[in-house]
Amino acid sequence: MNIHEYQAKELLKSYGVPVPVGGVAYSDAQAAQVAEEIGGSRWVVKAQIHAGGRGKAGGVKIANSIEDVQKSTDAMIGTRLVTPQTGPEGSLIQRVWIEQASQITKEFYLGFVIDRGSQRITLIASGEGGVDIEEVARATPEKIIKETVDPAIGLLDFQCRKVATAIGLKGKLMPQAVKLMKSIYRCMRNQDALQAEINPLAVVAVGEEEKLMVLDAKLTFDDNALYRQRAVKEMRDLAEEDPKEVEASGHGLNYIALDGNIGCIVNGAGLAMASMDALTLHGGRPANFLDVGGGASPEKVTNACRIVLEDRNVKAILVNIFAGINRCDWIAKGLIQACESLNIKVPLIVRLAGTNVEEGRRILAESGLSFITAENLDDAATKAVAIVQG
Ligand code: ADP
Ligand code: MG
Repeated sequence: MNIHEYQAKELLKSYGVPVPVGGVAYSDAQAAQVAEEIGGSRWVVKAQIHAGGRGKAGGVKIANSIEDVQKSTDAMIGTRLVTPQTGPEGSLIQRVWIEQASQITKEFYLGFVIDRGSQRITLIASGEGGVDIEEVARATPEKIIKETVDPAIGLLDFQCRKVATAIGLKGKLMPQAVKLMKSIYRCMRNQDALQAEINPLAVVAVGEEEKLMVLDAKLTFDDNALYRQRAVKEMRDLAEEDPKEVEASGHGLNYIALDGNIGCIVNGAGLAMASMDALTLHGGRPANFLDVGGGASPEKVTNACRIVLEDRNVKAILVNIFAGINRCDWIAKGLIQACESLNIKVPLIVRLAGTNVEEGRRILAESGLSFITAENLDDAATKAVAIVQG
């Protein structure tokens, strides 16, 4: 689960991480009020959507007066912001975050990720901070510093100093960097975050002093731990998630939208992955990942068909069920119910195996509907790809 920048900043602040003073606003009038409360003479208006890349897309604006704050807010709220991370349709801006504008001397990148290889939290940092870290990683990988944390002892001071030195921080900034990194690490561990990305971490001038400040923050949490992270769970913004995925989870279905044209309805995550692999192997592209789970009732199967068909790109649906706890007759009934109630126009390629398979096949055959049946996964994938490439 992802949260907005302002939520991440508020959470990090509670762990002692330095962030600019700010407030959230849902209208231009409220934005003006927030800016006045913050005080000062320069503010930043930041569109709150889950995707990054907002700066270059016009979602981060400096304002030199309260009127400017109002104008930028008015121009953002209610519009869709398109960034390289949103897809062409963009994300609707429903709120903005107003914060004090900092006088930036230098920008850095600081990330905490779980490295699957070492199975440990790894710090990633770069002196080339700001917007294009992906490009830095691609073109000049040597500019990316990595430090692995031993979970038994946690992040140690010397490791923070090592990272800070490597990205060029020194003097009075060193103890600040150590405290900041350790606080983010503590936040990540306590809140069951999977990832924390600070881009930029900035050196800002405050009078004569230099200070480290988190200017942008992205936190991602482990969905499986949300049951014990009630405060985090409350920050969920369903408007930012794919409505099909939200609906599917409400029906106990595990659905993830993808960009191909063959809808997939499968039981079990492993078989769903294998089905997607088989389609890809035969030159096709799955439109989604969908696991109907065990004991899928006819209603659940109908809901699965409906959600898959909400994706307009879907040209055929591959149903692949290996029934253990499931029952092929229920799946068959669900498919017939779906065809009748949803008026399905796209071909359905059905492969059934396991519990009550004969009964399931009989129900399909006697339905009078034109299902394309397949003997095994390979056969099903071949037929599905042949149809969409028709
Ligand atoms: P995104 O990553 O979505 O583009 P950021 O929050 O990183 O959005 O903002 C983009 C850029 O805007 C930053 O790299 C920084 O240069 C500038 N910026 C962001 N917040 C502030 C701030 N409070 N004061 C001054 N500049 C800022
Ligand atoms: Mg950023």
